Amino acid sequence: MNSNAAYLKDAKRIIIKIGSVLLVDQETGRLHRSWLEGLATDIERCRARGQEVIIVSSGAIALGRRYLNFKQGDLRLEEKQAAAAAGMVRLTHAYQECFETHNLSVAQILLTQDDSENRRRYLNARSTLMTLLDVGAVPLINENDSVATEEIRFGDNDRLAARVAAMVSADVLVLLSDIDGLYDTDPATNTDAKLIPEISEITPAIEKMAGTAASGDSSGGMVTKLAAAKQCLGAGCRMVITKGEQLNPLQALENGANCTWFLPRGNPQSARKQWIAGTLQPTGTITIDDGAVKALKDGRSLLPAGVANISGDFQRGDAVAIETSDGHEIGRGLSAYSSADAKLIMGHKTGDILALLGYRGRDEMIHRDDLVMN
Ligand code: GLU
Repeated sequence: MNSNAAYLKDAKRIIIKIGSVLLVDQETGRLHRSWLEGLATDIERCRARGQEVIIVSSGAIALGRRYLNFKQGDLRLEEKQAAAAAGMVRLTHAYQECFETHNLSVAQILLTQDDSENRRRYLNARSTLMTLLDVGAVPLINENDSVATEEIRFGDNDRLAARVAAMVSADVLVLLSDIDGLYDTDPATNTDAKLIPEISEITPAIEKMAGTAASGDSSGGMVTKLAAAKQCLGAGCRMVITKGEQLNPLQALENGANCTWFLPRGNPQSARKQWIAGTLQPTGTITIDDGAVKALKDGRSLLPAGVANISGDFQRGDAVAIETSDGHEIGRGLSAYSSADAKLIMGHKTGDILALLGYRGRDEMIHRDDLVMN
């Protein structure tokens, strides 16, 4: 029994990454429906406990390649993209059908690497995800394989899932895999191989244990799982690798199934604040009035009404410094508006944004989740 089993139960926001081999029969290309049913039962239980769940699922290419009668073996990039286009419809449909019988609403989001790196698109993706979680839906995410070119592809869903975990400050990322964790040597060739139950740093020795990547329809393997773990450790998110093959894999994990936990020192909130305050270079300054200073100190968001001046040239999603009227920096945050738009709405009520800009943007100039006080 893994003594960290309670981490899953205690998490508020969970990302579950599902590999192709769990969902799709590698021979026939058929979906494992009873497995998906079991997963739905697991997720229904998490939701009933008040936990928020996001799924990152592979399987589009595996489902689509058989549907379009592509040959066995490696496909060209364009063929994979076409297979993903056909398979994604079927994948989402299957989730929707299974989940609806468990009172879970599913909402599909297809992302590329670019969506998480470009600050403006990052903010958009993040707020859509947050809105879906707020209304109790289960976001179903996959890479937008059909349009992603080599340069903007993740190429594997392990790292995509880790990026999503960091994006939404998730507490736990579960990688449901065909192996139950990281072993000190290859368990396929070495009967003495030992499972490592807990890791808090990815050292070169750990990296060596990962070996090489997998084959078939999934792009993962232990190498991409460790890359995901590195991202999670940096984002303050706990990550676990466990075998997902049995029915109700989350229940099994809670019951102490074999697994490897990656345990960061900080938590998601502190990591995100550290990123905003310490890593990003502010590209402008927002000067706020005394009322707004008080609101921010009370932990509230910055509204356009409290903004007295804007300087610098920044885009939506860029980091900005926040100053009092006497030029004292009191914090930093990610601006929901570009400097040009911020100038037009500063000093105005949120309700006036539509008339001033011609579109209804965010209510806040800087949302409190995107704000760090000194
Ligand atoms: N996005 C791919 C798919 O849905 C899978 C990538 C991966 O297996 O990591 O088929």
